[in-house]
Amino acid sequence: MTIEELMKKLEAGETINLNSVQLTETTEALAKTFAGLSRSEALEAGKCVMCGEKHNGFRDVPSEREYNISAICQTCQDGMFEQ
Ligand SMILES: [Zn+2]
Repeated sequence: MTIEELMKKLEAGETINLNSVQLTETTEALAKTFAGLSRSEALEAGKCVMCGEKHNGFRDVPSEREYNISAICQTCQDGMFEQ
């Protein structure tokens, strides 16, 4: 999926599954728009691409796995997935 396609889906109100491994490359590119870090830069530094802060650990294994895919910390994951 290209970023253009992703943006179209978002505009159309479609739900994007961030857990999807196929989206990793897109997440990498999109990540720059949040904290100014790429996903791999954030992972290396133990930081979050959404808020730019160091992550404070994870509640459970799925949350940690999500971080390894998207580089999004527990706090930001809670904001995204539990609404
Ligand atoms: Zn965060």
